[in-house]
Amino acid sequence: MDTDVPAVVERIYQDVLRRNPGETEFHQAVREVLDSLTVVLARHREYSEMKTIERICEPERQVIFRVPWQDDQGEVWINRGFRVEFNSALGPYKGGLRFHPSVNLGIVKFLGFEQVFKNALTGMPIGGGKGGSDFDPKGRSDAEVMRFCQSFMTELYRHLGEYTDVPAGDIGVGAREIGYLFGQYKRITNRYESGVLTGKGLGWGGAQVRTEATGYGAAFFAAAMMAVRGDSFDGKRVTVSGSGNVAVYAIEKVHQRGGTVVACSDSSGHVVDERGIDLEVLKQVKEVERARISGYADRVPSARFVEGGSIWDVPCDVAIPSATQNELDADAARALIGNGCRYVVEGANMPTTPDAVRVLREAGVAFAPGKAANAGGVATSALEMQQNASRDRWTFQHSEQRLEEIMRGIHARCHETAEEYGAPGDLVLGANVAGFLQVAEAVHAHGLV
Ligand code: GLU
Repeated sequence: MDTDVPAVVERIYQDVLRRNPGETEFHQAVREVLDSLTVVLARHREYSEMKTIERICEPERQVIFRVPWQDDQGEVWINRGFRVEFNSALGPYKGGLRFHPSVNLGIVKFLGFEQVFKNALTGMPIGGGKGGSDFDPKGRSDAEVMRFCQSFMTELYRHLGEYTDVPAGDIGVGAREIGYLFGQYKRITNRYESGVLTGKGLGWGGAQVRTEATGYGAAFFAAAMMAVRGDSFDGKRVTVSGSGNVAVYAIEKVHQRGGTVVACSDSSGHVVDERGIDLEVLKQVKEVERARISGYADRVPSARFVEGGSIWDVPCDVAIPSATQNELDADAARALIGNGCRYVVEGANMPTTPDAVRVLREAGVAFAPGKAANAGGVATSALEMQQNASRDRWTFQHSEQRLEEIMRGIHARCHETAEEYGAPGDLVLGANVAGFLQVAEAVHAHGLV
């Protein structure tokens, strides 16, 4: 057996490249984790012997299926559906569904891989998976979205179950889609299996705070990071990219904690509002009207819309990228540093490119990776499963308190693990190592499966 640890890690990475050609986002996610694991392999020879890392890099099951549906004019469309059941060492596969034209197998695998470690970090009994489709819900009627969801679930249902695989939302999949998916699952199986999906409506099995959880959680994580530096959100200028579910509730919590979010964005551009983003207007434009973010500036006199351009040029103390993968590159990182930004907290999954992470680190900017900072969403999904299993309902206050405790716990674990492995303050290493150790121990205990 090879005892040269860096060489072992490199070989594992080369194998991943060879076996998963063209899946660049998946390669990126694996590389980042592997870079943190040399310190672990040096202490745990058994994980080399049993090829534990190699097994964790290989999904347990990958399902790809055809999703035919008809639009309102009767035209037939064929989309592709995916569910990657990545790892079930800690519990049923758990992770969202993304409906977006950019979805392909590589994207789903990167998200599933991240989800494995994220879910482990929550300390809840959930494995990792991810799914979705290249279906674009933008501009589609409710009836079209419903027909698509029904067709999608007509195949997916056979792979799901509250003890097997439990999807939720992600980009393009919110309360409306979860409703249609749940309805079709219930119809096909003739079972009211509440715990088979999370992110359900509050009136039919959903949990308080699930909607807010990812954004709130990112803000709680940021607050914990600031607290170890004797700092807080009080008086801080904050930019939050995106204007979807994560961004909206990150903004809300930052405001509640005394910070001011001066900018947010969508794929068409960003708005700057020095008075602080007005959430009621933002929700009306993005959630109710499903319109472009320029609609915000049309309504709020203190705001201006910048078409195209980079939101990271807007000066801030704290940046919370909450739109999508690789949205913050090295140039954006340099712009943030030039304007005095001190904290970057990932609300989205892998929004910061590896080069940008390097630039931020070298400049001493405190950086929180998404698999730790955005884990509040899936953690609250696990709380939803817990309530479904016990046929119970918790109050908003109790649920929010649980979420805050979980996020503080994740931060503490990442922080302490980084110190223990000789990289104080490095939350990327802390998150990767702590998440990996949790999964690897269970994988190892289960034997060669
Ligand atoms: N899609 C979310 C994430 O990236 C939530 C997944 C879930 O609740 O299962 O973690």
